[in-house]
Amino acid sequence: MKKKKVIIIGAGLGGLSTGIYAQMNDYETTIFEKNPVPGGLAACWKRKDYLIDGGIHFLTGYKPGLSLYNVFKEVGAHKAECVDIETYARYIDEKSGRMIDISADLDRFQTDLHTLFPEDKKKVNQFIRATRGLSKTDISEFGFKEPLELMRKRDWIKELWQNRKALKYFMGKSMKPVSEYVKDIHDPMFKELLLYMFLPSVPIVFLWMVLSFVSQKQMGVLAKGSLDFANKLEERYLELGGKIEYKSKVKDILVEANKAIGISLEDGSVHNADFVISAIDGRTVIYDMLKGDYTNDKINKIYSKWKTVDPFVSVSLGVNMEFKDEVWMTFFKTTDPVIVAEEEKENIMIRFFNYSPHFAPKGKTVIQVDFDTEWEYWFVLRKDKKEYNQAKKELAERTIEWLESRYPEVKNKIEVIDVATPYTYWRYTLNERGSYMGFLPTADAFTSSVEKRLPGLSNFYMSGQWSMSMGGVQPVIYSGKHVIQLLCHDEEKEFYSISE
Ligand SMILES: Cc1cc2nc3c(=O)[nH]c(=O)nc-3n(C[C@H](O)[C@H](O)[C@H](O)COP(=O)(O)OP(=O)(O)OC[C@H]3O[C@@H](n4cnc5c(N)ncnc54)[C@H](O)[C@@H]3O)c2cc1C
Repeated sequence: MKKKKVIIIGAGLGGLSTGIYAQMNDYETTIFEKNPVPGGLAACWKRKDYLIDGGIHFLTGYKPGLSLYNVFKEVGAHKAECVDIETYARYIDEKSGRMIDISADLDRFQTDLHTLFPEDKKKVNQFIRATRGLSKTDISEFGFKEPLELMRKRDWIKELWQNRKALKYFMGKSMKPVSEYVKDIHDPMFKELLLYMFLPSVPIVFLWMVLSFVSQKQMGVLAKGSLDFANKLEERYLELGGKIEYKSKVKDILVEANKAIGISLEDGSVHNADFVISAIDGRTVIYDMLKGDYTNDKINKIYSKWKTVDPFVSVSLGVNMEFKDEVWMTFFKTTDPVIVAEEEKENIMIRFFNYSPHFAPKGKTVIQVDFDTEWEYWFVLRKDKKEYNQAKKELAERTIEWLESRYPEVKNKIEVIDVATPYTYWRYTLNERGSYMGFLPTADAFTSSVEKRLPGLSNFYMSGQWSMSMGGVQPVIYSGKHVIQLLCHDEEKEFYSISE
């Protein structure tokens, strides 16, 4: 029987995962990607002898032992080399002259927290108790096992029963955003430590989950960088017979009688298919390409009310120095703020790519300094190329001065400087406001769902980070699986997945 054709827009992790599951289920797929390489936000680039990683910070559930690993095996992601993380991050509070390592060893972390924050002993114990509780369960697939659209009452009961030991951590006060959870903490450093461990908007349970993965030795960093991770998915997709057209920017989704029938590219060519699946920016697809003809109140509310993750500007330096004693990620609350987009930044995040030889030649290191920043500032500034480049140069200079007073000698050992702004991320992936993870993960988003089908439009689906209430590697890989489960369901076919 002739296979049905599926066009997938975008070869980010979401598009690749979609292609992999579609190929497993006997569809003939082609991915159209505007860039010359796969990965989208999972991007790396070379600067002289240095490899700059502009993507994924850490991975969870990449080893046998958690159910998420089965999905990694299905998409070939398990072949990406990972280095285990013993310390989630170091936190340095220059104001009080104190520091703490967020250790995988929860006993040690608890003792350190008690020593630093004796007044908050009760809160520390509550925080660690919850983290410990979650680390005894496998919640890596909680909420992801099946597409929400296909879950019936009995599936929910089964899901809740299977995760019953973890359920209490996902209810009531556990869903408070970190920004609220910290309100009764006495020590400002403890407050800030929790606020910036991830994002202040996430429910507190999210931090417990992250630290529970760390304590289960299920958190790691990519030894060869984000692009290598994407390449592993691309390899799997191609092995399964999928095709990718690179340097092919999709301009429009073609619709006839409320049915998606193909796409047109910017070069004017037209490509027809039985189904179209978009794995790119949601707003562009729904409101530009499809002109807002296929929405409903729920979708409109999401796009008018939900915020996107604030972008950041990233200063990467290739340095002829080793930083063997540094942990891979350090958060600073600095007394010496750096001006970024006309704002003083006290919270500074540094990554030392000292855990693998793939980022720099022997004896050298890539250091990356990230600052939260305003989207508008960079998007407006980029209209004047000279001013935009000057702002990048000056930011790099201020960052280097700041580093020099904390890591003496750095300044004279710098061989490469690279600055990626929110505009860089947007230009490369076209994600709304340079968002690196889709919608802002709030308690509201956590407990809501985003539809993968649009009302009134048949043969069209969405996957990738805008088809989930929260982006990230794990959700977008699942989004690819879920969208093909939906497609198979709509076609009244059984869904198959094959592990490597
Ligand atoms: C710096 C950074 C750190 C991160 N850290 C983590 C982390 O630690 N853990 C974690 O889980 N996640 C992390 N993420 C998030 C995660 O990488 C993303 O959520 C995920 O990769 C998004 O994948 P996607 O396929 O949905 O979207 P994208 O990666 O945006 O892919 C979309 C693709 O579509 C292409 N495209 C866009 N428009 C068109 C068009 N019109 N025609 C053709 N092609 C088009 C783009 O070029 C792109 O390749 C991080 C991201 C960044 C940038």
